[in-house]
Amino acid sequence: MGKPTGFLEYKREVPKEDDPLLRVSHYREFHERMPEEKLRVQGARCMDCGIPFCHTGKLISGMASGCPVNNLIPEWNDLVYRGQWREALDRLHKTNNFPEFTGRVCPAPCEGSCTVGLNDSAVTIKTIERSIVDRGFDEGWIVPEPPEKRTGKKVAVIGSGPSGLAAAAQLNKAGHSVTVFERNDRIGGLLMYGIPNMKLDKKIVQRRIGLMAAEGVTFITNTEVGVNYPVERLKEEFDAIVLCGGATKGRDLPIEGRELKGIHLAMEFLHKNTKSLLDSNHEDQAYISAKDKDVIVIGGGDTGTDCVGTSIRHGCKSVTQFEIMPKAPEKRAANNPWPEWPKVYKMDYGQEEAAAKFGGDPRQYLINTKKFVGDENGNLKELHTVLVEWKKDDNGRFFPAEVPGSEKVYPAQLVLLAMGFLGPENQLLDQLGVEKDERSNAKAEKGKYATNVEGVFAAGDMRRGQSLVVWAINEGREAARECDRFLMGATNLP
Ligand SMILES: Cc1cc2nc3c(=O)[nH]c(=O)nc-3n(C[C@H](O)[C@H](O)[C@H](O)COP(=O)(O)OP(=O)(O)OC[C@H]3O[C@@H](n4cnc5c(N)ncnc54)[C@H](O)[C@@H]3O)c2cc1C
Ligand code: SF4
Repeated sequence: MGKPTGFLEYKREVPKEDDPLLRVSHYREFHERMPEEKLRVQGARCMDCGIPFCHTGKLISGMASGCPVNNLIPEWNDLVYRGQWREALDRLHKTNNFPEFTGRVCPAPCEGSCTVGLNDSAVTIKTIERSIVDRGFDEGWIVPEPPEKRTGKKVAVIGSGPSGLAAAAQLNKAGHSVTVFERNDRIGGLLMYGIPNMKLDKKIVQRRIGLMAAEGVTFITNTEVGVNYPVERLKEEFDAIVLCGGATKGRDLPIEGRELKGIHLAMEFLHKNTKSLLDSNHEDQAYISAKDKDVIVIGGGDTGTDCVGTSIRHGCKSVTQFEIMPKAPEKRAANNPWPEWPKVYKMDYGQEEAAAKFGGDPRQYLINTKKFVGDENGNLKELHTVLVEWKKDDNGRFFPAEVPGSEKVYPAQLVLLAMGFLGPENQLLDQLGVEKDERSNAKAEKGKYATNVEGVFAAGDMRRGQSLVVWAINEGREAARECDRFLMGATNLP
């Protein structure tokens, strides 16, 4: 710990963001870099407390508390304070294959459990993480490191999201020959086609994929295992399989009028937007445009926020985001103490942009959609809604009871359904004979990752349900360790 009194002397600072009204004119990232002097001061705020909860990565009340990849946070905070950036980078890469992703998109459960946050504001851990790895790339310290020896074993990784990439990177490091299969035309899973470019620039994803390819990982795109690549062939050609196919089945809203033109699942909207942006800077028009439309996003989570930010960039006429749950409190509730993930009200980037453009937070709380109504040509025209209050039924379970007289009609020409995900798509799991759990995810114990089929492992959203990039990296790394143990009888992977 470089500066024992740092947390008393310095205040938390985060990087400046571009003005919301300016940044909505492009799809570039909008966080400025912090100068080195400021980063060192922020690193000095770390107390190196006796029990650093920031790196525990435990689930408390169903939410992550501390860093799920167990980043050695106090150690690299100290190294940054001392200006030892190269050492900080090495320490960071010990636990996280892709800090340039988490340093941009992680919601930072580490900061929610930072001890300084008990009675002051948390250390700016996520910014420091990003700055270490960005510096590593700037300095040319991050170069391909192919394994010295190959084991002769072949592993197939299905799915190229963060879990598949982490599994592939670790298995390759152990000397196995790894092939990653991806059904999309680009590698990256939701890093590529879910999270929008302004949150994670796709050049950054591509840079890491290039490094992995140079280290010997083979990537095969436009190939859906179980559809245009038979599972029998996969089983013949590979010694082990790691399933990282994500939980991509979107929750629909099968109410009156759902068939009208102008209602889409959020992922269709976001995927097409990024693909068209990357293919042609939107010139091919192969995306669902929100231009001049009244947009309603149903779902108040992160996917919904990405739809809000993207709709504003298209030039929508208005945007409203529906949330069926109540607004979160401004401060931690009594039943949500530190070091739990703080369930408090916050404006994410999309809401900030909507507020700047249209004058307020776009979220409407405690609202339910009853039906969609169209015009004579089958185009969506409006949404009929009702307010709800959460009550308990006879079994003590909460349900949303409608508030009489609260019906309202919203004009809308585009509705984006962002109400979460129902789990993985079935065909691959069924064809391989992999058992599913009660939530329809691939059944495999956390820490072991082995499915009921010998030599077949499962990790990431496909195993745990829709989650976070950092959990996907954690599971990909650990599944690689177990796969290596299966192949070699022992493992040195962490
Ligand atoms: C819109 C959106 C925004 C998000 N924003 C954030 C965020 O800001 N921060 C955060 O931490 N998390 C975020 N998440 C969650 C995060 O992206 C996921 O938890 C994470 O990507 C899961 O990683 P994964 O590798 O398990 O699966 P995925 O990233 O879903 O990747 C799975 C891949 O497998 C491929 N695949 C599936 N079946 C096959 C097959 N049979 N053959 C070949 N390929 C196949 C799919 O095409 C897909 O590319 C977001 C999610 C969404 C939807
Ligand atoms: S990966 Fe996420 S939780 Fe871990 S240190 Fe980085 S921002 Fe924090």
